Amino acid sequence: MNFSDLGLKPELAAVVAEKGYTEPTPIQKAAIPAVLSGRDVLAGAQTGTGKTAGFVLPILQRLGARAAQGPRALILTPTRELAAQVAESVRVYGRNTGLRSTVIFGGVSERPQISQLASGCDILVATPGRLLDLAQQKALSLAHVEVFVLDEADRMLDMGFIHAIKRVRAMLPAQRQNLMFSATYSDDIRRLAENLLRNPLAVEVNPPNKTADKVEQVSYRLPKEHKRHLLAHLIKEGNWHQVLVFTRTKHGANRLADQLQRAGIAALPIHGNKSQNARVRALEDFKNNRIIALVATEVAARGLDIKELPYVVNYELPNVPEDYVHRIGRTARAGSTGMAISLVSPDESPFLKDIVRLLGRDVPTLPLPQFEMRDSGPAEQSGREGAHRGDQGRSGGSGGQQRQGRPAHRQGQRPAGRPHAGSRSPQARRG
Ligand code: AMP
Repeated sequence: MNFSDLGLKPELAAVVAEKGYTEPTPIQKAAIPAVLSGRDVLAGAQTGTGKTAGFVLPILQRLGARAAQGPRALILTPTRELAAQVAESVRVYGRNTGLRSTVIFGGVSERPQISQLASGCDILVATPGRLLDLAQQKALSLAHVEVFVLDEADRMLDMGFIHAIKRVRAMLPAQRQNLMFSATYSDDIRRLAENLLRNPLAVEVNPPNKTADKVEQVSYRLPKEHKRHLLAHLIKEGNWHQVLVFTRTKHGANRLADQLQRAGIAALPIHGNKSQNARVRALEDFKNNRIIALVATEVAARGLDIKELPYVVNYELPNVPEDYVHRIGRTARAGSTGMAISLVSPDESPFLKDIVRLLGRDVPTLPLPQFEMRDSGPAEQSGREGAHRGDQGRSGGSGGQQRQGRPAHRQGQRPAGRPHAGSRSPQARRG
């Protein structure tokens, strides 16, 4: 099956072919005809499934030619990063259509956005805050919106945008097509869908554990305070690159990035307290391999389009099991394989149990390798040296830790149970 078989007109199918997409993804197969039919759609799909093209392509087709009054399609996304990525897809896929698109989000100056809106806009991609700001200033009107898309609706609710969504909805014309995308279904999502959608076609192609199936998942059990040492060890010994590390808090992200830096691993934090510029720069450095580890909070990582990420580390487990699926969905995209490593402290065991239940499969625990317990930062240099002795750590918790001055690997003992997705063995690197 190709894109034309789904009802897309030749110029849109041609753009897709130019991008090198030979076949529509499952969400595209289901969503494109559904959106083209003009019906409301409720789609279950997460990032990495090709969902963006799944709604952008049929919207481009439905809008047809450019119009004086706009915007006629409004795509609401939870984060600036996602807004930028969706807008880029609109630009690329819509290149031969003559339709004009604009993206607006907070954290940057309003003025260029206002003047771009004034010069004409058929498709508007926006985050809720800036959209409401500009609407209030009468810099834009939503009175001509024909298609309204709520992207990553579950994340919208997590981020507290429910009231913003209601305010936006109140500005839209009654007669319109609504599309709602969500990776997960909670009661809140179902309620939102009931309020927003009229007689929707439900498109559910990607139950979360299907994506998770492609990712190799392992865990280590260890005390919280040992985690940073194990992580530094795994990154160095495995010669890992492009590691996305999840922490629960912004402060935790800052601290861990700092600790990794001091351990000699190029790392940067990315979270909501960082300016838009800092976030974009961190992401670029990561994509260009200038930094090895990007330490992110859940919310900040949402919507980052990083392809074929080899490693995702759950430095702290999320307490919502669906978030685990989101996180690890960042690896193993587009058919490549990836590895998700979870560092689980005793207090996080219940979270892992919930995750295993959701996945319907086990996340095996690997024996702990031997790793240094040394901080290279000046504050902690003395009295914090030691080595964690491999397997004992599992049964004996912190009892496996030896306080000895020499790093473990110099004693001629090889690390055990180290996950390794690279091609070079540690022996080869040492020899
Ligand atoms: P998304 O889930 O929309 O974030 O898309 C994930 C990635 O898949 C993006 O980098 C797209 O460029 C890519 N993609 C979208 N559709 C296809 C397709 N039919 N074949 C291959 N890659 C695709």
